[in-house]
Amino acid sequence: MKKGKTTYKLNRPGYHLPIDDVPAWICSQCNEVYFEENVVDNIQNVIKILDTQVNLSGNLRQLERRSFKI
Ligand SMILES: [Zn+2]
Repeated sequence: MKKGKTTYKLNRPGYHLPIDDVPAWICSQCNEVYFEENVVDNIQNVIKILDTQVNLSGNLRQLERRSFKI
């Protein structure tokens, strides 16, 4: 396992969004990715914010062009 960064592909009803440079542990043998608990919490927070924005704006196209950092 080595510390690295990965792109987390967020798939939600109505939109898909890649989150770049997410800190992760990556298996050097099979490249499987593991996230630490605080990173998972951060991703959950981003999902909450995004869901709220989607509900408010209803503008999915605009959202898909943005990129989010953890
Ligand atoms: Zn492995």
